[in-house]
Amino acid sequence: MVSDQHNEHDASFIEFCDEEPVIAALEEPARWRILIVDDDESVHRSVAFALRDMLFLDRKLEFLDAYSAHEALGILRREPDIAAILLDVVMESEHAGLAVVKKIRDELGIADTRIILHTGQPGFAPEISAICDYDINDYRTKSELTRNHLCTCIAAALRAYRQIRRIDTSRHHLRRIIQTGSVSIGEVDEQKFYQGVLGLFAGLLDVATIGFVAVHRSQDPVGKADVSLGTSHYAQWVGHDLGQAGLADAAGVCLRAAQSGGMQWCALGAALKVSAQDGGYLLLFVEAQQSAAEWLDDTVIETFVGHLGSCLDNRLLLQRLNHDAHFDRLLGLPNRRYLSELLEARCTPRSEQALTLALIDIDDFGGFNEALGQAFGDALLKGLGARLRAGLPQVVTLARISADIFAVLGPNERVCPETLLPMFALPLSVLGEETMVSVSLGLTRLADVESEGGAAVLEAAFQALRAVKSQQRGQLGWYTPEMSRRTHERVTLLAGLRQALRSTGLFVVYQPQVALDDGRLIGLEALVRWRTEAGDFIGPDRFIPVAEQSGLICELGCFVLREALTVLTTLRESGLDAVRMAVNVSAVQFRDPDFLSELGDIIRSVGADSSKLELEITESVAMEDAAYVRASLDTIRQHGIQLAIDDFGTGYSSLAQLKQLSVDRLKIDRAFVKDLDEAAFEASIAGVIVQLGHKLGVEVIAEGVETLEQAALLRRMGCQEAQGYLFGRPMPLPDLLGWIRQHQAGRLH
Ligand code: C2E
Ligand code: MG
Ligand code: MG
Repeated sequence: MVSDQHNEHDASFIEFCDEEPVIAALEEPARWRILIVDDDESVHRSVAFALRDMLFLDRKLEFLDAYSAHEALGILRREPDIAAILLDVVMESEHAGLAVVKKIRDELGIADTRIILHTGQPGFAPEISAICDYDINDYRTKSELTRNHLCTCIAAALRAYRQIRRIDTSRHHLRRIIQTGSVSIGEVDEQKFYQGVLGLFAGLLDVATIGFVAVHRSQDPVGKADVSLGTSHYAQWVGHDLGQAGLADAAGVCLRAAQSGGMQWCALGAALKVSAQDGGYLLLFVEAQQSAAEWLDDTVIETFVGHLGSCLDNRLLLQRLNHDAHFDRLLGLPNRRYLSELLEARCTPRSEQALTLALIDIDDFGGFNEALGQAFGDALLKGLGARLRAGLPQVVTLARISADIFAVLGPNERVCPETLLPMFALPLSVLGEETMVSVSLGLTRLADVESEGGAAVLEAAFQALRAVKSQQRGQLGWYTPEMSRRTHERVTLLAGLRQALRSTGLFVVYQPQVALDDGRLIGLEALVRWRTEAGDFIGPDRFIPVAEQSGLICELGCFVLREALTVLTTLRESGLDAVRMAVNVSAVQFRDPDFLSELGDIIRSVGADSSKLELEITESVAMEDAAYVRASLDTIRQHGIQLAIDDFGTGYSSLAQLKQLSVDRLKIDRAFVKDLDEAAFEASIAGVIVQLGHKLGVEVIAEGVETLEQAALLRRMGCQEAQGYLFGRPMPLPDLLGWIRQHQAGRLH
C-alpha cells in the first residue's frame, strides 16, 4: 500500500525496483517474518509497499509493526521466527534503537534474528563498535534505502538468518541424534526399534510419524525389502515386499534411495536408506513436504544416516551376543540362561501355571565320552536333541542346560512321563552305532513350587533329579515341597554345624570295647556329639551326611582325631597303654588329598602312639579300586595304624579284594547282632562274618551288644571282641575315667 503522505525523502525509499525476484514462487510456502520498528507510521507503509512482491527462496515476506522500543520488545517476546528487524535508531530518544538491540541480544537472548539499522539523520549513526558488539547486519541511512537496496539488504539478512538457523538446527539435530540413537540400539524388540528409528527420521523432518520401515536383510535377494513396520494407513502393508505392496510413489522413492543412497524425495514424502555393514539396509519413508528439509544441512543427513547405520551394526552385534548368551553353540538349542529367563517370566502369577518342567539327565554321559571319545559324545547329544525336538510340540520349550542335561518346559499334559519316556525306548543311531541311551528324569509342576521365581522352579526340578539319581539312575521322580523343606533343613543344619565347630558345640564321647573272653578293656571308639546352643542334641546320623555333602566333614574329622588322640595319650600316661582308639573316617574325608598329611600332622603334634590308633573305614572305601585309595591304605598300614571295616556286612565286599587288603578288624554291624537267635546262631550273618574273619586271619568285633545272651552267643561263635550298651555307653572323658576305674575294680573282684 502506498500512502499519500510520503515525503520527498520517502519517495526515493519506495522507488520500485525492477530487478528479478530472488527466486520465483512455485507454491505458497510459509513467510519470512520481518519486524519494522519505527516511530514514523509512513515508514511502515513504504517498506511494506516496496517489498510486497519480494520472494526469497519461494517465500513471501510478512511484516510485523512496532512503533516504539517497548512495543518492539513485546512483539519479540511473543512472536517466534522473526527473521529480520528493520530498526530505526532514533525513536523516543537519540539511541532508543541501539538500546533495543542491546536488549534483544542480551536480555531476550535472541541471536539468530538479523538486524538492519536505519536512520533519517546521518549524524546519529551508531559507533562501529556498537555495530560489531550487537551483531548488526547492516546500517543504512534512510536515503540510501532505495527499493533495490532495500531488497538486497533484506535478502542478505534473510540469507544470513537462514544460514544461522541451519547451523543451529543442525547442532540441535546432531545433539538429538546422539542422545536418542544410543537409546534405540539396546531395544530388544524389533518393532520398537523400527518405530524408534522411524520416529527419529520424522523428528528430523519435524513431521508426524506417518510412514513405514522396509528391511532388506543381508541374505535377501537383491532389491527385496519387506515392509516391517507401518504406521497409520501404512500398517496394512506390513509383511509385504516393498515392490509388491501397493505403495506406488512411496515404494518408488524408496527403491530410488536403495539404489542411490541418501535421502530421496517424491511428492508424498522422503525416503532414506540406512545401510549396515553386513550388506543389509533399512529404507525409511515418512510423509512430508520437501520444504520440511529446508533447515537440514546435507552433513546432518549424512551424520544421521551414518549414526543410524552404526546403530544397526551395533544392534546386529548385540543380537549376536544375545544369541550366544542364550543359545547353546553345539545344538543351537536355548541354554540354561534362556530357560531361567523364560521361567522367570512365566512364574507369576502362580495360579496360571499349568506348566511342568522336566530335566533329562543322560546316565553316565561321562562314560560315553571317556570310552568312545568326545566326537561320539557330541553326536549323541545332537541325536538326542533332535529326537526330543521332533517328538515335542512347538508349545514346549526344549533347552540344553548343562553338558548332559536337557530341560523341557510346557503344559502339564505335554510334559509328563507318558510323553517323554517313549522317546528313550528305541536306540539312537550315533555315528552309525545303535546306542541305547538311559536317562534319569526329574520333574516338577510349577504350581508345586512354593518359593517365588524361576530360579526356585529350576532348583525344584534339580532336587527331584538329584533324589532320583541318589537312589537309582534310569528312573524318574517328581518334586515335592517336602524336598525343599529337607533342603532348607540341611542348609540350616549346616550353618549351625559350622558355628558349632568354631565354638564348643561339638565334643567327643568314647565307648568302651572289651574282650569277650575276660571282659578287659581293649579299646575305645570315639564318637562325635553336637549340642546346639539351645541345648538340644543332634545325632551324628543326621549331621554327618550334611557335613559330608558340604565337605565340612574334613574339618570335623580332624577335630575328632585330635581330641581322640589327646585322650589316648592321657590314658597312656595313666598306665592304660594297651588300649587302642578307634576313630571313624568318612569316605569323603578319606578321599580328600590332604587327609594323609593332616593325619600325620595331628599324630606328631599330639605325640600319640600311632600303633594304638585304629581308623574305621566303610566297606565302600575299603573296596574302592582307585589307585590313590589303595596307596593311602598302604601308607596308613605302613605307619602302624590299624584299619577296621565298620558296619561290615551292610555293603558289598569282594572276598578277593578283602584277602589282599590286610585290614586288622571287621566290625559286625549292630543290625546283625540284634537279629541273633539262639536256635540258629551259627547260620546267622554274624556267624558267617566271624568265620570269614578267621579264614582271613583278621579279628572280629561285634557292635551294638546289648544283652548278656548276645555276648554269650558271639563268644560261642568265636567272636573275640565286642562293643555295646551292655558294657558301656559312649561317654564324655570324665565319665569314661570313672567307668574305667569301676570296670577295673569290678574285674579285680
Ligand atoms: P558307627 O561308627 O557304627 O558307631 C556306632 C554307633 O552305634 C554309635 O552311634 C553308637 O552310639 C551306637 N551304639 C553303640 N552301642 C550300641 C548299642 O548297644 N545299641 C545301639 N542301639 N547302638 C549302639 P552314634 O554315636 O549315633 O553314631 C552313629 C554313626 O555316626 C556312627 O556309626 C558313625 O558312622 C557316625 N559317626 C559318629 N561319630 C563320627 C565321627 O567322628 N566321624 C565320622 N566320620 N562318623 C562318625
Ligand atoms: Mg564306627
Ligand atoms: Mg558301626
